[in-house]
Amino acid sequence: MSDIAIHWFRQDLRLSDNPALAKAVEQGTLLPVYILDDDNAGPDAMGGASRWWLHEALGVLNDQLRGHLRLYKGDARTIIPQLAAHYGARVVSWTRCYEPWRMARDKAIKDQFDAQDCGTIRLNGSLLWEPWAIQKQDGTPYKVFTPFFRKGCLQAPPPAAPMEAPDDIAFAKPQEDDGAISLGELSLLPAVAWHKQLAPHWDIGEAGAQAALKRFLDDGLNGYKSGRDVPSQPHVSRLSPYLHWGHISPNQIWHALDDLEDDAIPDQDVDHFRSELAWREFSYSLLYYNPDLTKEPLQPKFAGFEWQDDPEMLSAWQKGRTGIPIVDAGMRELWKTGYMHNRVRMIVASFLIKNLHTDWREGEAWFWDTLVDADLANNAASWQWVAGCGADAAPYFRIFNPVLQAEKFDADGQYIRHYVPELSKLPNKYLFKPWVAPKDILTEAGVRLGETYPAPIIDLKASREAALDAYKALS
Ligand code: FAD
Repeated sequence: MSDIAIHWFRQDLRLSDNPALAKAVEQGTLLPVYILDDDNAGPDAMGGASRWWLHEALGVLNDQLRGHLRLYKGDARTIIPQLAAHYGARVVSWTRCYEPWRMARDKAIKDQFDAQDCGTIRLNGSLLWEPWAIQKQDGTPYKVFTPFFRKGCLQAPPPAAPMEAPDDIAFAKPQEDDGAISLGELSLLPAVAWHKQLAPHWDIGEAGAQAALKRFLDDGLNGYKSGRDVPSQPHVSRLSPYLHWGHISPNQIWHALDDLEDDAIPDQDVDHFRSELAWREFSYSLLYYNPDLTKEPLQPKFAGFEWQDDPEMLSAWQKGRTGIPIVDAGMRELWKTGYMHNRVRMIVASFLIKNLHTDWREGEAWFWDTLVDADLANNAASWQWVAGCGADAAPYFRIFNPVLQAEKFDADGQYIRHYVPELSKLPNKYLFKPWVAPKDILTEAGVRLGETYPAPIIDLKASREAALDAYKALS
């Protein structure tokens, strides 16, 4: 047996505060690997935006590892044991993942190693608390967020202090015939160069994550509690893709909040930001205890709900051409940047489900394909929350009125004007509902409804009432 330790990177694409990587480095010489495993992912295989992000992220990580990252494609259940045998590895390490397909696969791999000489190191590096660490006193999982956070998370042992990146990594000598392929051979980039518009919005990798955190702590956190609802303001961190890919650990963020030197930042902003980090933990807990979260409503009474199947409406929503400005602005932000502000995510999701009466899983699938932070747990839990069929979900009668939402949270119209420039000359009075504008105002603003900008594809009031009736029938 050699002194080689294989670290299998997955959703932990960073060197600092990576306990499993640090342990592997202590064991001897490091063979860092990444496997694109669509075989085991099946229907949960990454979407387009994620693949683009991953392509860039692997390039950055390889540079950090001084060109030593080895790439493979295929079934990790075969590849990892083969690599361990090929190199005579002493140990294989990985950071635990919690998606059902990854847990099943990882367990199968661990079981194979249990019967051999090669050991495994499996540690948490992605969550503040692993799902099984936060439970009610009776040993059952929380179903409601506030007690999960206040009684569960805040009473649990605090997240571990973050670790520095390993000082000096000794790398194992790679062998030519180990099946590794090039980054290009992973074929992660889409055939249509849609990803090129995403690139200017993101500085992918560990350094980019730390810079985003610093920017947020310096300029965004103060005022977060109220400012986080206004999509044109810089009061959200945009850390979600970095957290999803593990360019930064939640522990690093949590402890950076402890270390804040700026006394001017009100506690309520810090606390609220911590609670948002805990929503991520809550989603993971939901997924862990409900492995069907992505497919089945948590509340069984929704199983037979009759959704409408209208491909034209769905396509208008996806393209940001519904004729409802705040919805279109959000969907275009998503398409152009791979991100959408949380308030707007809730508005577009509510519109799809409760005005267009479309199955929430259609929205979940589109987000999965187009978000750079597409995350099985957060995405499914959030869609179920908006649909009203999830844990601690929005009550059925809470149907966002997208016009009122826009008037409240985009009061100066900055966000809509940015993403829906064809409406930019409309006065605020009509910007949020151009269909009520008098003809001369539309003409003056260069807007021809149905030509330069769509007329609304649905009557907001009638569709809302129909949804209320359908939901009421369930309760
Ligand atoms: P900040 O406000 O700066 O929050 C900091 C971090 O807290 C986020 O990065 C995120 O990790 C976590 N967080 C914040 N809000 C939530 C939330 N409601 N649920 C879970 N975690 C949260 N988030 C994803 O990471 N991936 C998804 O695929 C995803 N899909 C969503 C789908 C819908 C329909 C909705 C309504 C929300 C979805 N969210 C998803 C949650 C939330 O919108 C994003 O996490 C947030 O907008 C990310 O932006 P930020 O980093 O600037 O957030």
